[in-house]
Amino acid sequence: MQYQSFLIKYAEIGTKGKNRYVFEDALVHDIHKKLSRVDGEFRVTRERGRIYVGAKTDDYDYDEVIDALQHVFGIVSICPMVQMDLSYDYHTLSEKVLEYFGAVYGNKKLTFKVMTRRADKNFPMQSNEIDAELGHDILEKFPETSVDVHNPDVRIHVEIRQYINIYSETIPGAGGMPLGTNGKAMLLLSGGIDSPVAGYMIARRGAIIEATYFHAPPYTSERAKQKVVDLANEVAKYSGAIALHVVNFTDIQLKIYEKCPHEELTIIMRRYMMRIAEAISRKRDCIALVTGESIGQVASQTMQSLVCTNEVCELPVYRPVIAFDKQDIIDISQKIGTYETSIEPYEDCCTIFVAKHPVTKPVPEKIRESEKIVYDEMLPMVEKAVNEAELIWCDGK
Ligand code: ATP
Ligand code: MG
Repeated sequence: MQYQSFLIKYAEIGTKGKNRYVFEDALVHDIHKKLSRVDGEFRVTRERGRIYVGAKTDDYDYDEVIDALQHVFGIVSICPMVQMDLSYDYHTLSEKVLEYFGAVYGNKKLTFKVMTRRADKNFPMQSNEIDAELGHDILEKFPETSVDVHNPDVRIHVEIRQYINIYSETIPGAGGMPLGTNGKAMLLLSGGIDSPVAGYMIARRGAIIEATYFHAPPYTSERAKQKVVDLANEVAKYSGAIALHVVNFTDIQLKIYEKCPHEELTIIMRRYMMRIAEAISRKRDCIALVTGESIGQVASQTMQSLVCTNEVCELPVYRPVIAFDKQDIIDISQKIGTYETSIEPYEDCCTIFVAKHPVTKPVPEKIRESEKIVYDEMLPMVEKAVNEAELIWCDGK
């Protein structure tokens, strides 16, 4: 059976009071946008707290539509359904339900329960009567099935509203809040596993994200840069187009390498990354930085190291995976489709300039002292890096 419509369920938006329409508008807008990349013609309609997607013809690919809808933040679940015009005639309803049940489940040995909700009270039977009658009709036509009201294999929902909706399957959505319902944040995106997940998580809360990548040619290859572009494109399938700023970091890294104590290289380098990302954020109206840091993952992510990295910027730094184990982050990256790209072997700029024994408990005063050696020389270099950053739009295609 080719479904004609899909019921889109959303959760948190329902609690937004007067602003609710802003969230619903954003959700509808993003559904349109994601479906525009799918073959077929669709209409998106709203009915009191509900969003429906309808296919204008049968000429579309079901899996593609579900995939597109699963990339829309704000959707909690997607229910493929049969929608019929409102009728107050029980027999018309029963016929449709039997046709639906037969098409989806045939005469399989399964337990079911009918759950009717009657928003339109003009229907001449009460919800529980409809449940009982439909249950009876299904049992009669499909004798292999049986009713289980407590723990059924299948729940057949019948909603009598402006239309009558019949559905039983619930496909999980991405959750979160619709895109564009929050501010804009700057993700520090490397080629690793963590930062794409961090960006995804912040975008999932409705934020627009841009990204900054620190590239150190010739120490990092064009292929390493392409990997980051690929990752940005993967995240963009959810977050919408990402403006990726590629910063040439070579001279700054070499200067730190040449003049600063080697055990502090990573921390000082991280501080410069934050400063540069913040400067680009200001130019691009981003109001927060986002990183993929997680407490204790590496020397530069101990709590003491994070104090040192954090103190150089004024913008808030969001670290959505801060308390996640690596495996938890990997699980998300596999789910969202960034993992395979993240594990490609190309060098990251950090791995080349790492010291054998980096400090794990850096003291901010000491780091500031070491940084003083290069600070003045570095000012014009930072300015140049910011001004000459290359902008690559990654739109997820
Ligand atoms: P990831 O898997 O996200 O690369 P990681 O475990 O490799 O993280 P680090 O290399 O210490 O950890 O980096 C910590 C965070 O700093 C990253 O999550 C990312 O936000 C940022 N970062 C590191 N390297 C770069 C880079 N070359 N360009 C942009 N951001 C970077
Ligand atoms: Mg990394």
